[in-house]
This record gives sequence, C-alpha cells and structure tokens, in this order.
Amino acid sequence: MLRVHASWVHPVAAPPIPDGAVLVGDDGRIIGVGPHPHIPTPPGTEALEFPDAILVPGLVNCHTHLELTHLARANHAPEFAKWIRRVRELKEATLPEEFRRAAEDGIRDCWRRGVTAIAETGSTGVVMETLAELGGRGIVYQEVFGPDPAKCVQSMVELTAAVARLRPLASDRVRLGVSPHAPYTVSAPLYRAVAEYARREDLPVAVHLAESREETELVRDGSGPFAEALRARGITIEARGCSPVQYLVQLGVLASGTLCIHCVQAGQDDVLRLRAAGVTIAHCPRSNHAHGHGTAPLAAFRAAGVRVGLGTDSVMSVADLDLWAEAEAADLTGEAALRMLTLEGACALGWESEIGSLEVGKQADLAVVTALPPDRAATLLTMIAGRPVHQAPA
Ligand SMILES: [Zn+2]
Repeated sequence: MLRVHASWVHPVAAPPIPDGAVLVGDDGRIIGVGPHPHIPTPPGTEALEFPDAILVPGLVNCHTHLELTHLARANHAPEFAKWIRRVRELKEATLPEEFRRAAEDGIRDCWRRGVTAIAETGSTGVVMETLAELGGRGIVYQEVFGPDPAKCVQSMVELTAAVARLRPLASDRVRLGVSPHAPYTVSAPLYRAVAEYARREDLPVAVHLAESREETELVRDGSGPFAEALRARGITIEARGCSPVQYLVQLGVLASGTLCIHCVQAGQDDVLRLRAAGVTIAHCPRSNHAHGHGTAPLAAFRAAGVRVGLGTDSVMSVADLDLWAEAEAADLTGEAALRMLTLEGACALGWESEIGSLEVGKQADLAVVTALPPDRAATLLTMIAGRPVHQAPA
C-alpha cells in the first residue's frame, strides 16, 4: 500500500481538506481520503510526505495530438486551410521512429504537468501503443480521412484494419475510439459509414467540429478556401445550407458521448442541438485564439448542461501542453479551474466513475502540485492507478 500526505488535499467531489492524506491499495485504487490523523498507515505502507503542497486528482487533457509532439513550432502557414495542408505534409515526412519518440515525449510531458488521462486523436496508432507500454491512461481516437466520396470504402478498409491492430491493446487504462477527422477532410458517406461502424462496434467517437469560419463557409455555402482546395482535387462540393453542427446531426454522427472538439462557430441553436444529441465538448481556448477562430460559447454550453472539458490541442497550434494555461484562458482559477481540469474533464470523456476526483473506490490517479492557479504550479508527483509516473527531483 501507499500513503500520500500533503498540507492540503482537494478531492474535488468534496471540500478541500487541510493536512490530509490518501491511502492507495495494492490494486491501484483509493481506499481512504481524509484528515491525516484519520487515515491509517498499515504496516508495510510506503509513505510519501508533502508538507508544503497540494494533493489533487490527476488532470484530464480532453484534446491532444501527441504523435505530433516533434512538430512544435514547425508550421508557419498563415491561413487555416493552408495550415491544415501543411500538417499533412509534415506528417507525411515523419518517420515511424520519430512518431514513436514524439508520442513518448508527449506522454511524459503530460505526466510532468500532472496530467494522468488524455483524449488523443491521431492516425498512426503510436500513442495507443506507447500508453499501453508505459502504463499511461487515455482514450485514443483513431482518425480516418477521406473527403472524396468515391474513396469511402478505401478509408473504411484502412480504419477497420487500424482498429483490428489496436484493439488488443485496449484495457482498463487505455481505450480505443474512432475519429472521422473534420468536415473538410471527411465526405458525407464516410461520416455515415464511420458512425454506423462505431455504433456496431461500440467505439467512442470524437470529431473536430465547428472550429473555423472557413469550415462553416464550406458546409453552409460550399465556398471558401476548403471548398476551393477540394474542387482543385476534382471533388464535388455541395452547399449544405446549414451549420456544421446541423450537418453532423443530419448525418447521424452526433450521439450520446460523442466528443466534439472546438465548437467555436456555434450559435445558441447549435448549443441546443449539441445538448439534444448528448455530446460532450473539448474546449481548446488557446488553440482557438492562436488560429484566430474566435471564442467558443463556454458559458452557453455550461448553462445548457453540456459537459465540457479542457484540451490543449497539438503543440503545432499551441506551443506547449500546459493545461493550467487553458483554464486561465477560460477565465477559471482556484477550485473552479481544478474542477474543470479533473472531474469535468473525466465527465466529458465518460470516465467519471473511475477517475476525476479523489474518492474511495476510484483509481488512484493523482498529482501533487505546489499551487493552484492563478499561481504558477510545479508538479512534484504524478501517479496513475497508484503507480508514480513522474517525481520531481528532490
Ligand atoms: Zn485537434
């Protein structure tokens, strides 16, 4: 067993405890949370002491692209459609061992920041392999692309092959999902086929949705830079006459628990559509700002009761994986920031029965930090299922 004692314990699901402790069983689950004098130290227990630090649940990063960690600051394309194309070129120029190193660097960087669960979207599968190998926790959504309706079958063959290859790695800690990437990279037939496949196979779904104005132009009007680039490839583009959110509702892609990433270009009607569909949101304020997309209607989502977690997006969009900075960008500090980065993030991923708060029976995913925002925190310890994955040098 293992016991962590800190000057404050923030269980998040309950009020903060001064001079608190958490006891972790050999199965990696929490067996006690409370004031230090009330939590026993059974014989043989390893005791970790943090007399001047705060024990919190591990943070949940609801949107990452860790397979792109090696490409931080590599993309200087000025407009979003060109930036997206440049991402593809840079990925195509990446060797398998570079993806592997990027995944490991990204995962370890998350751990150094107190992040114990990630929701990754990627196409290589390398993050799932690396999480399984290193003992990390996360959902990995296997991306599928194909803007040309004529290539739908080919894209589905690739997706099902990737799922068959990755599924044996799935466990309590590592979950597999699928992600039809975005309206400018996925045709209507491919969206329908992926949605149907995910339902049949019981796989969670994530989508990049309503991110840029250019995406809205493409979907609603069949015009703008995405439409031009697709037409130049010989692909027929139709004006759908509706918002990207409406479009995915019509295609049957948005279902209970679908993780919708960004959702910046969403008016009140779209907020209500998202709520009716039962989706959750990965809010990435710094990425949205960096690309000039605007600000997602966070207050409207929360007022409507839509579950929202925070995500950093890739280090190509925002140069680091600082989740606390996302909370700050969302105007959250203290306990409110902590709650959104932990329990609300876990809810957004449908994982709240196992992680997101310090409660008896839950996984011992936790972090010991020196401060809560707005103060800058250093992470002294990060633990996943009772196993330390990061410890600051003494
Ligand atoms: Zn993304």
